[in-house]
Amino acid sequence: VCPVAAITELSEIEKVWAALEDNDKHVIVQTAPSVQATLGEEFGMETGTVVTGKMVAALRRMGFDQVFSTDFAADLTIMEEGNEFLKKLNGEGELPHITSCCPGWVKYAEHNFSDLLPHLSSAKSPMQMFSALGKTYYPEQAGIDPEKIYTVAVMPCTAKKFEKDREEINGSDFKDTDAVLTTREFARMIKEMGIDFKDLPDEEYDELMGESTGAGTIFGTTGGVAEAAVRTVKEELTGEALERLNLGFRGVNHAEVKIGDRLIKVAIANGLGNAEKLLERVRAGECDFDFIEVMACPHGCVGGGGQPRPATNEKKDKRAQGLASIDDSSKIRKSHENPQIVKLYKEFLGEPLGGESHHLLHTKYKARPKN
Ligand code: SF4
Repeated sequence: VCPVAAITELSEIEKVWAALEDNDKHVIVQTAPSVQATLGEEFGMETGTVVTGKMVAALRRMGFDQVFSTDFAADLTIMEEGNEFLKKLNGEGELPHITSCCPGWVKYAEHNFSDLLPHLSSAKSPMQMFSALGKTYYPEQAGIDPEKIYTVAVMPCTAKKFEKDREEINGSDFKDTDAVLTTREFARMIKEMGIDFKDLPDEEYDELMGESTGAGTIFGTTGGVAEAAVRTVKEELTGEALERLNLGFRGVNHAEVKIGDRLIKVAIANGLGNAEKLLERVRAGECDFDFIEVMACPHGCVGGGGQPRPATNEKKDKRAQGLASIDDSSKIRKSHENPQIVKLYKEFLGEPLGGESHHLLHTKYKARPKN
């Protein structure tokens, strides 16, 4: 069930076809981390097969002007959120730090845990960070009129369609994300085009906002955001690499990480039922976690409502293993080492949590009536 009660999938397929056929529009697309390990199922491939290269090739054949990766923006989220967490560890802000990249969880928190909203990261989700840059940084670098840019996001869930329409989410002078397609909608478009997906060659993302690290990719499963953030924080503070946290895909799990002379306590909640139990304990002062990751869907985005159906726990395990295999084989596994992220800060944003970053990459939340 969709966590924001968008029971039916409001298709944006026709909007995207119309944008692709409009010669006045320059259409760029981003693909969420999890889709790399789930899309193949729609074409009869074994569950968990990594299809990144074929997916990029399909998007080019559909007519997108640039094909980019949300994993790039996940690295950027880690830069912003990791530095925000560092400040909180130094006494500036409220601990535990709670993640906010899942719009299903954020909306649930606004209704049911509004007293804990100051704990949520102000960093936007990777999708929204990407789109804000897609209408500012990208046109500046590419020499294109930003008014012509149309941004499409291929995402694991319908909650992302709600997120893009939040009033306070836009950072550019335009609507940051124009259209969201779920994995199933995207597969339907590939089939409508008559593309033989399995026989496509592997192609690479376009460079400027297509390069990513293993840390960005594991955002697609529960535990991934926590692991990616602690990887960067530990290395920035101590110069030491982090071993895997292995936080698991079910229930509430936790781990302790030694960073210098401090022991950091990390917890993750799989699904809103488990999040509620954990956050009631936080509210009652019964636990002292420093960092809490919440994903509305058990298993995280590999189990999202827009992914191929049916999705058993066994299938979700395999999808998560597919993403872990990308992380394991990545040449760069830490967000702060992504050369395109380094370039972005040097040439456009300045520094993490700086003025331009704050304007484009951060947001706020509001209490909503309890449900
Ligand atoms: Fe969407 Fe579920 Fe991922 Fe949250 S965990 S972003 S609701 S797919």
